[in-house]
Amino acid sequence: MKIIMLGAPGAGKGTQAKKIAEKYHIPHISTGDIFRANIKNGTELGKQAKTYMDQGLLVPDELTVNLVIDRVQKEDCANGYVLDGFPRTIPQAEALTKALEGLGEKLDYAIDVDVPDENIVNRMSGRRACVSCGATYHVVYAAPKVEGICDTCGAELILRDDDKPETVQKRLGVYHEQTQPLIDYYTKAGILKSVDGTRNLEEVFKSIVEILGE
Ligand code: AMP
Repeated sequence: MKIIMLGAPGAGKGTQAKKIAEKYHIPHISTGDIFRANIKNGTELGKQAKTYMDQGLLVPDELTVNLVIDRVQKEDCANGYVLDGFPRTIPQAEALTKALEGLGEKLDYAIDVDVPDENIVNRMSGRRACVSCGATYHVVYAAPKVEGICDTCGAELILRDDDKPETVQKRLGVYHEQTQPLIDYYTKAGILKSVDGTRNLEEVFKSIVEILGE
């Protein structure tokens, strides 16, 4: 099952992508996580990506597309995958469609986690990320067991630079301009499914499972 997640930054698509990956035993591929891991490891890609990410801008397609196309051809993707944060532009979507066609494959579902802008800014300011493993929490909706500490690895939780209010506004603008057109793109491709992302995460996941099947 090959799935892509769509939705504004902070809509909860990462959380849902992780739950999908667990339930259906497919890898969760997050371009944001890949870039953050590269930043942490001080790679050249990380250095380049950081300059865009810190400003709330998208990393250029040249640095993003091949990374994902290579990743989805790895052995662990044989039974599918859930892509989280990619594609984010029409050229990325077209490159993915073309690469998959070349492999005789196609996407099965594009799941749009729909949340209005008003809710997004509110949510993002409460988001916390682990400095070590990248796990994300929310101070109200998905609080860690101990405040400020990651449940998974025990490291410190912080407000990511790109989750700060001024950067969130910028990212929302970028989302509407560059990513929202993908809703039309995948509607035309006949694979778009929208879920109401304003509900709690278990309810949202239930709707997704109804789409994907048990
Ligand atoms: P995320 O964790 O998915 O919200 O991604 C964090 C940041 O990484 C984004 O704001 C972008 O700067 C960058 N990024 C992640 N995925 C992509 C992508 N597919 N294309 C361009 N930039 C991306």
